[in-house]
Amino acid sequence: MQPLKYLVGYPPHILEKVHALIAQDRLGPMLANKYGQVHAVRNDGQLYDYVQALKDRHLRKSVPLGKVLYDGKLQVMKHALGTHTAISRVHGGKLKASREIRIASVFRDAPAEFLKMIVVHELAHLKEAEHNKAFYQLCTHMAPDYHQLEFDLRLYLTQLEVGAD
Ligand SMILES: [Zn+2]
Repeated sequence: MQPLKYLVGYPPHILEKVHALIAQDRLGPMLANKYGQVHAVRNDGQLYDYVQALKDRHLRKSVPLGKVLYDGKLQVMKHALGTHTAISRVHGGKLKASREIRIASVFRDAPAEFLKMIVVHELAHLKEAEHNKAFYQLCTHMAPDYHQLEFDLRLYLTQLEVGAD
């Protein structure tokens, strides 16, 4: 069995199930069935509005958003499913923190739920730099099924890769 790079660290019985689904060509249809909803966030402007709306709903008081964009060069895994850059700029002697959010462009065509999951992940980083308990509490506050979504996203990325072979 080839290693599943998006599922590194998951227990063997889970990996066996995933390998079986792939071998039976069932992983793709299963995900398509569960996540059939596409989204209309096609460009960086729409992405900014989408992120801002989620932020307004859940994290109104955190630092203002900086640039928000789809990034075709971003590797999802390398950046732990997204990226988060803190950029500090000096404005008139006052240090003002602003945040840039880059979303890997694979999410432009991904199901709506996965775009939401990755945006929730990045928004949580506005308040918590580390992937710690407080971080995941923020994630589940914004998306109650966050953990299931993250696992299914890993399956989706796995399927994209095996489907491309
Ligand atoms: Zn992260």
